[in-house]
Amino acid sequence: MTRSEELFQHAQVRIPGGVNSPVRAFRSVGGTPRFIASATGAWLTDADGRRYVDYIGSWGPMILGHQCEPVREAILRQAQIGVSYGAPTELEVQMADLLCERVPGLEMVRMCNSGTEATMSALRLARGATGRDHILKFEGCYHGHGDALLVKAGSGLLTFGVPTSPGVPADLAKYTLTATYNDLASAQAIFAEYGDRIAAIIVEPVAGNMNCVPPAPGFLEGLRQLCDDSGSLLIFDEVMTGFRVGPRGATGVYGVRADLITLGKIIGGGLPVGAFGGAATVMRHLAPIGPVYQAGTLSGNPLAMAAGLAILRALADETIYQRLDATTATLLAGLQQAADAAGIAFTTTQVGSMFGLYFGHGPIRGLADVSACDQDRFKRFFHLMLDRGVYLAPSAYEAGFLSAAHGPDEIAHTLDAARASFAALAA
Ligand code: PLP
Repeated sequence: MTRSEELFQHAQVRIPGGVNSPVRAFRSVGGTPRFIASATGAWLTDADGRRYVDYIGSWGPMILGHQCEPVREAILRQAQIGVSYGAPTELEVQMADLLCERVPGLEMVRMCNSGTEATMSALRLARGATGRDHILKFEGCYHGHGDALLVKAGSGLLTFGVPTSPGVPADLAKYTLTATYNDLASAQAIFAEYGDRIAAIIVEPVAGNMNCVPPAPGFLEGLRQLCDDSGSLLIFDEVMTGFRVGPRGATGVYGVRADLITLGKIIGGGLPVGAFGGAATVMRHLAPIGPVYQAGTLSGNPLAMAAGLAILRALADETIYQRLDATTATLLAGLQQAADAAGIAFTTTQVGSMFGLYFGHGPIRGLADVSACDQDRFKRFFHLMLDRGVYLAPSAYEAGFLSAAHGPDEIAHTLDAARASFAALAA
């Protein structure tokens, strides 16, 4: 028995499913999750001493690789002078300044502790600011596990939301309307009926939780127009895309303005963090200056702020993004070539250093296209790659991420593994 197997067996006694977040349990690919003992640069080492090139990057935050020096130093420095005070700090002011300088449309920002908190709070704020109760989200977009957001579409365009999870009251879910990502007409049809009751549209500007689906030309612009016409707010959930797809996030890449933006992942440098912000006119509805309540014992935590500031300051060097884009393109071209050589139907998507891998021909425009790909092949490929020291996301519905620590050696290692894995699949 491997140490990971032992730990997984033990973990399942005390932790539901043996994990503290479901996707880590490998349920959609089968097998035993690797328990990670340490990580450095682009590499993970598991509890059995096996090494893997990491394409998860802690689900996004590790854009500069594990233990990147400025972040490590900032955490160690802060740990020596206090890890939480429950009172304001200069670090929070610096973080707020930096976020507002970098992210178009942010005039004020509030820190919290996770992406889930950020989206929950942004929705409450949107509802409080507009005096409306309904929200519109897109099927296949994930915005954390807040009750109102654990809802998917029923059949038909104008169906009230159906909870995806027991424990979400139907009376609450009915305020969540659901449309089809990249299908503007589906959102327009909902607005035609509910427009004056919709507080906000919340959308991942690049969908990263149904693998990696870029927005179709005109989609985000169309959502902006719908909000403008109806007095609704547009919320870009940039928890994943913020400082990932470009130095100004997806807002910078696509040039569409949102009223509220949620952030997380990268801005904490790997420590627990979230943030939401937007126009001052909207943000001024928040307590203590406005009536919409939102709070947090550890919000603006000094360790998270120190780590986040360190990573964001390092990312001020925008050439990092050019290198990340180029390395990601090289990886994906190599994977495509390897798949083609083995005669495997395969396609990829890329936005900056976010990517998607699909066992199908594409194009990939939304959840239906992703679901139509060969999931069994993905599972086998995942394990073939894992056995060869490459750690991909353990689900066909998750995006992959590169870091600045992925260099020619890591790409070569990955492509060697891929050639062998595609050949094994074809055999
Ligand atoms: N929003 C998006 C787009 C996400 O990808 C995630 C997490 O993956 C969240 C929100 C929730 O963030 P957290 O897991 O930090 O609560």
